[in-house]
Amino acid sequence: QYVVGIDLGGTKIAAALFNSKGEILGRERMETANARTAKEVVQRMIEMIRSVARGLPLSGVGLASPGAVNSKDGIVLHGTNLPEWEQVPLKKWMGEALGVDVQVVNDANAAAWGEYVRGAGKGSENMVYVTFSTGIGAGIVLDGKLLLGSTSFAGELGHNIIQPDGPACSCGNRGCWEVFASGTAIRDAALAFMQSKSSAIAELAAAYGEPVSAKHVFEAYKQADEVAVQVVDRAVHYMALGLANAVHTFNPDRIVVGGGVSKAGDQLFPALREQTDKLVMKPYRGTFEIVPAGLQDDVGLIGAAALFHQS
Ligand code: ADP
Ligand code: ZN
Repeated sequence: QYVVGIDLGGTKIAAALFNSKGEILGRERMETANARTAKEVVQRMIEMIRSVARGLPLSGVGLASPGAVNSKDGIVLHGTNLPEWEQVPLKKWMGEALGVDVQVVNDANAAAWGEYVRGAGKGSENMVYVTFSTGIGAGIVLDGKLLLGSTSFAGELGHNIIQPDGPACSCGNRGCWEVFASGTAIRDAALAFMQSKSSAIAELAAAYGEPVSAKHVFEAYKQADEVAVQVVDRAVHYMALGLANAVHTFNPDRIVVGGGVSKAGDQLFPALREQTDKLVMKPYRGTFEIVPAGLQDDVGLIGAAALFHQS
């Protein structure tokens, strides 16, 4: 029972061969830009699968894709970060070429399933997974099942509108959670505060030779830098606000938090737990835990492959 998991990203495509225990036996990797059209990308993915499988019999291929995906039919409806990806029938094209079942799921939902089956969600029954990265991604597992919805985008929590007429979001709306609580939002808040006050954030970024980002904000927070403290307090409040909404919506026993911002570790988690609990209705306080994600860069392909290990 071998399965190949693929993480189709805007910059790279990663594939791995799994045995039935979920162990990785081999890997393949390529730059997405090496192929131009969707057809070409699919052709290259088919080659990657053949190469990584080394002739072993496959019981399935699980594929995590960015953007809008119809998982029922295995079609990428619109690929964000994948130019000219509209209505691409991945399941059909790849299934016919390889003669195996192909399951396609959006990357946040794949990551949620990966954490649930193999990561920090293990042992939970009802899990909310949130990644605080450049944007905010999320996925929901309820009663042991990945929640997909009619067109498989359930869990798009980053675009819940938390402030009508708030700042513009990349999605075209205003006031989405992502605009207040993503890594990008943390950076933007820091840049705004620094217009009127100098901060160690700028010095840290300069010392690294990097543009200011959430990472430097959390590092300056450790030194009790005034701007960093303000920015982090504000960010944690907004992160908690969205998590509390998710608690009220899904009643999870566990919230798994991943993404680059979660690397802030102790600078983030104790405050995030406290703030979230405060914003949850009294009877539901203490009914869930908030834990850091367990899987790193492989989470998407692990989750996609694990779609074939539902039990
Ligand atoms: P992507 O969105 O490309 O998947 P990541 O999940 O790595 O990328 O998230 C990037 C965000 O994480 C950036 O805003 C970055 O500043 C932030 N980040 C990276 N490392 C840390 C850290 N140690 N502490 C806090 N934020 C971090
Ligand atoms: Zn939005």
